[in-house]
Amino acid sequence: MYHQPVLKNRRTLLERAEKFISDTYFTDCNLRGRLYGDTCPVESISYSMSQKRIPFLEAVKLNYEPYEVGDTFGPTWWTCWFKVSLRIPDSWRGKQVHLRWESDGEAMVWMGQQPVQGLTKEGEKICYILSECLKDSEPHSMTLYIELACNGLFGAGQGSMIAAPDPDRKYSVQKAELVVFNQEVRELLTDFEMLVDIVKLLGEGNQRGYQALFTANEMVNVCEPTNPSSFPAARSLALRFFSQRNGDSQHTVHAMGHCHIDSAWLWPYEETIRKCARSWVTVIRLMEKNSHMVFTCSQAQQLEWVRGWYPGLFSQIQDHAKKGQFIPVGGTWVEMDGNLPSGESMVRQFLEGQCFFKKEFGNYCREFWLPDTFGYSAQLPQIMQGSGITRFLTQKLSWNLVNTFPHNTFFWEGLDGSQVLTHFPPGNSYEMKGKVEDLVNTVKNNKDKGRANHSAALFGFGDGGGGPTQLMLDRLDRVQDTDGLPRVQMSSPDRLFSLLEAESSLLCTWTGELFLELHNGTYTTQAQIKLGNRQCEALLHDVEVASSLALCQDNTFQYPSTQLHNLWRLLLLNQFHDVIPGSCIEMVVEDALQYYQEIRSVGTRLLQVAGEALVAKGQTEVRGQRSEDKGPVVLNTLPWERTEVVPLTDGTTDQPVLAVVTVPSVGVVSIREGSGTPPVIPVSVKVQVDGSVLMENGILRAVVNKDGCLASLYMVKTNREVIYDGWQGNQFVLFDDVPLYWDAWDTMDYHLQTRKPVREVVRPIQVLSLGGLRGSVTFTLQISEKSTITQEIILDAMCPYIKFKTQVEWFESHKFLKVEFPVRVRSPEATYEIQFGHLQRPTHRNTSWDWARFEVWGHKWADLSEHGFGVSLLNDCKYGYSIHRNVMTLSLLRATKAPDANADMGSHQFTYAIMPHKGTFQEAGVIQCAYNLNYPLRLIDHAPGSNTAVWSAFSVSTAAVILETIKQAEDRKDALLVRLYESHGGSVSASLSTSLPVREAWHCDLLERVDLSHPAPFTGAGIPLNFRPFQIVSLLLYLK
Ligand SMILES: [Zn+2]
Repeated sequence: MYHQPVLKNRRTLLERAEKFISDTYFTDCNLRGRLYGDTCPVESISYSMSQKRIPFLEAVKLNYEPYEVGDTFGPTWWTCWFKVSLRIPDSWRGKQVHLRWESDGEAMVWMGQQPVQGLTKEGEKICYILSECLKDSEPHSMTLYIELACNGLFGAGQGSMIAAPDPDRKYSVQKAELVVFNQEVRELLTDFEMLVDIVKLLGEGNQRGYQALFTANEMVNVCEPTNPSSFPAARSLALRFFSQRNGDSQHTVHAMGHCHIDSAWLWPYEETIRKCARSWVTVIRLMEKNSHMVFTCSQAQQLEWVRGWYPGLFSQIQDHAKKGQFIPVGGTWVEMDGNLPSGESMVRQFLEGQCFFKKEFGNYCREFWLPDTFGYSAQLPQIMQGSGITRFLTQKLSWNLVNTFPHNTFFWEGLDGSQVLTHFPPGNSYEMKGKVEDLVNTVKNNKDKGRANHSAALFGFGDGGGGPTQLMLDRLDRVQDTDGLPRVQMSSPDRLFSLLEAESSLLCTWTGELFLELHNGTYTTQAQIKLGNRQCEALLHDVEVASSLALCQDNTFQYPSTQLHNLWRLLLLNQFHDVIPGSCIEMVVEDALQYYQEIRSVGTRLLQVAGEALVAKGQTEVRGQRSEDKGPVVLNTLPWERTEVVPLTDGTTDQPVLAVVTVPSVGVVSIREGSGTPPVIPVSVKVQVDGSVLMENGILRAVVNKDGCLASLYMVKTNREVIYDGWQGNQFVLFDDVPLYWDAWDTMDYHLQTRKPVREVVRPIQVLSLGGLRGSVTFTLQISEKSTITQEIILDAMCPYIKFKTQVEWFESHKFLKVEFPVRVRSPEATYEIQFGHLQRPTHRNTSWDWARFEVWGHKWADLSEHGFGVSLLNDCKYGYSIHRNVMTLSLLRATKAPDANADMGSHQFTYAIMPHKGTFQEAGVIQCAYNLNYPLRLIDHAPGSNTAVWSAFSVSTAAVILETIKQAEDRKDALLVRLYESHGGSVSASLSTSLPVREAWHCDLLERVDLSHPAPFTGAGIPLNFRPFQIVSLLLYLK
């Protein structure tokens, strides 16, 4: 070929190459226009609609009617089953033949009763390969089925992705034909695409960029699109460029196929089951063609779904897992929210997950995998370590709105000092496409360059599923070691982390939580889900405690392990990172609330059954005296003695019958015995001349104004006023709450500037209970024309806190309701309860790291203390707090409109409490009080003649150590598992006493694997245990 010298015009050369592969311009003469050859219509298509998601064998029995390409069908969430008959022309011998299928909605191809591949336009999967190279011996005629879900990869949002779904959307098939696919054109297009991207990404300052430019230009010169015999020459030019090698020092990118599938989000749980099948069967097809391909797959629940619904596919997955291609990761049941689940819930995420992975794939996972959640608890490192995991991968902190997180590869140190090696893929994505841009950004963004020479790059369509494509694999294959680009290798989490571990000496350490500076509305959105989670966590705790005790009392009692597993799995599923945060569509909320209802109804029955067994018979061996009481028995599942006022009726009447009862630690008492202790000081309630009400119980004295605000809260013994001068406590405030985009997710800093107190009184304060065991007042406020708050303020005898039992009728739009307590405490930091412990966050806004935490999460309590005195704010189902300067604020309700247009509309009930205290919150028992508020004493019905002696099963010698969990051991029916943690934040020695018939005790990890080097010997005082601050200790107690 005659060569003119190349002119110095980078732009024309670059655009020339781009136009040569454009799918918009010059397709009549460019290379792209040659990707497909001859086409041929399919013989026939017929279809049938199904409202439900049905199995294949049911679908083939449907009545099928003729379908014309372009006809519409629907509505949203239905399924359209297609029966497609086709015949490949004989003349296509030797060609690669595809079924080209372009449709709205996600599709699955079925052949021979098996799912064989997903087809999703948004996931760049529009072809199913019928033959790689057509032979006469291959079948030319066939019938296949296509199951088409009437929803897109991201649901069916009306107008924007996160808008509420359009329930009436119509769908259609735009293309259904046979086509000859030109593989050589595809290869050459990929070469061109990579070279063009290298030119663009490396830029004008880079020599390799120019070499790529001239290579691409010369390829256009030699390549004649209509003449395939010219292709090899062009390809060899590309190959020469790609095979010029790097030096030894180049960074290595560890590419791993991945497919992030939200277990429910803009689509319901049920659709996720099909998303998993569509995505993973496609992955299996790719693995068959690409033996080096690696795919990482998290979330045991999703694998369990596929195991149940698609057993054939699941066994193929197991086969490829044995080959090391399909790699289960993560170790958890679902990729849960990293903030809101309780400590025990997080342990169960790992326990259920790891046991599943071990059973189905032969190994425990070694990496925790949580790329997409809205923050990470400071207790996660310890929980990971206890679950056999030392490595962690995520990337979500790249979404921080304010501060840039300073590391990509680092040690993350948790609350107790446990460390895990952590990697944030520097490309800041879990759904890369294997493009040059992804590789270049991975190195460019890596903040630990020089310290660590390896990074992960996860490729494959995600969120709605989809996963990797052949094109992504082809891109990566070309540049495995190309001078100027990082090295790329198909890798695995184990390989990456092993290399990072080997070169970890220079790595930095980040201590404490990984707080996401975004999505902080998710601590509050969808209040019923939050309530369901908190209540069901408590209920399952109580069922386990009662059943464990019953097991030791009554040898005919059957521990309900199967039911408990099922209930736990429902609870864990709802902790998925778009469900418990409330960032899901209304259909998901309905499912989630249904699951909570199931846990409540089955759990309550299990609790009753265990309770009856507990008091049924045969307590002669235990301490305490036999009693012939007929009154109800009260169960205390918490590890300390409690003296409380309890209602003896179910609370449906306005004026419950009350009794004061003292119940021993993890034990029972009958009401008549316990109620022998009258309060030393009864509660008094007096209406004052100005209409305010004075409530007193000898510990606290409160003045409640006519509008329900606390004018004063006084600690009697310490002569200390709690409410800040001139301010009022229990002040409801309303904010405008309009985020920039992520409606259910985000509350923005500027909402704080729109504060409006709720002051309009509908029904001024009235006395409801006059005192004695309980004093209470009630009032109603108007929030707006549509919304009201009715509250009962309750002061019980002997109780160190005031409860605010609240009912809100809530019909707002983009408003945020909170309640404030301005207090007489000055401290630069406040304390918030988290999983198995607590941590401090600033009350000031000195730096951007401080003010970015204007809305934070906590669990059952938060505390603001100065030396010698403090105030705690307790709650029974809330998670959002803000404590700025001396104002303690609890976030109550939001009114977001996307993706659920009706989020939080309706009635809400919740209780919070204010507890001033002398000394530290640890000394004052705030932690115990918050537990008491969340784990009410349980009344047990029992048959006449039952043994209702006072009885305590466990007690712990120090208040610092909390016995959190008592359950049957996972795989040993003759053993109990107990879990304790140090809650004060100090090193302590404690002893655990039990009246149960324990033979021996051993330490174990969170997966309940016994540590044979660590027996837990009994002494006269029980089992002595030593704790580091916030340490979690699990023991297996073998029963006699
Ligand atoms: Zn996600």
